[in-house]
Amino acid sequence: MSGVRDRALGAYLGLAVGDALGAPVEFMTPMEIRERHGLLREMVGGGWLRLRPGQVTDDTEMSLALGRALLAPGGFDLRAVAEAFAAWLRSRPADVGNTCRQGIQRFLAEGTIEAPPREWHAGNGAAMRILPVVLAALRNPVTCRARSLAQARITHNHPLSDAAVETLAEMTRRLVLGESKPAVRGLVEELVRRSPLFRFDPYPGRATGYIVDTLQTVAHFFFGSEDFETCLVGVVNRGGDADTTGALAGMLAGAAYGCAAIPERWRKTLDRNAAREIEAQAEGLLGLSIRARPAAAPQR
Ligand code: MN
Ligand code: MN
Repeated sequence: MSGVRDRALGAYLGLAVGDALGAPVEFMTPMEIRERHGLLREMVGGGWLRLRPGQVTDDTEMSLALGRALLAPGGFDLRAVAEAFAAWLRSRPADVGNTCRQGIQRFLAEGTIEAPPREWHAGNGAAMRILPVVLAALRNPVTCRARSLAQARITHNHPLSDAAVETLAEMTRRLVLGESKPAVRGLVEELVRRSPLFRFDPYPGRATGYIVDTLQTVAHFFFGSEDFETCLVGVVNRGGDADTTGALAGMLAGAAYGCAAIPERWRKTLDRNAAREIEAQAEGLLGLSIRARPAAAPQR
């Protein structure tokens, strides 16, 4: 497998693995996790959603829905993306974030593909599902940024969500292409210069669904560790929105270290159907990015 393919699949499997690892401790405090699990290192299932071990939640499911829309004939079409989210909502998922649900319901009621700006839209629900867009526009940073934001705005319209979406998308894009962690750390530092709220060093210690807390948690553990497992164990044991911080950290760590860095026991426990669709999508989305690649010379 080429380096790019390996890191693309690593990012997608990493996202799902982080989701499945963190979901059983979603909304718990670090102390509650410690009392119940010691240091959580396994995909135990359970939690408030009563999950099977390895089961994924909305973070992975919305990404897969987005990926399906991108892979359908016609390619990137915002209305098709919104329809895919709506189809997912109709499938009665175990978990749906409030802002995501409201955004999809607005699309169904009014047909609009952009949420109006709202003060409470600074959640992490738009950032958690960017990966398929990144993979499909891997060689084109302008398209990658525009489409990451456009899909986000279907449900979330807030400058902090936008800022995190942009930064996480570009970080992931560069990591999959093989850039180093120090190089992408520069992107977060740039974000912190523009919006000091996002400062993650020293780590403020909050891991909620507020996108600022989410990004700080993910950046703190991703840059503060050297391997996939240490990064993910650190993140999910902070609790809070542990499936979403886990998913985003898994996406970055999988992109940085590749598939083989994901512990075998986690990959084996991960929901089979999700893993199969992820493998197919990663391949298909990369194919789109190659076809969409600007030609080096005019063709006749
Ligand atoms: Mn979730
Ligand atoms: Mn969550």
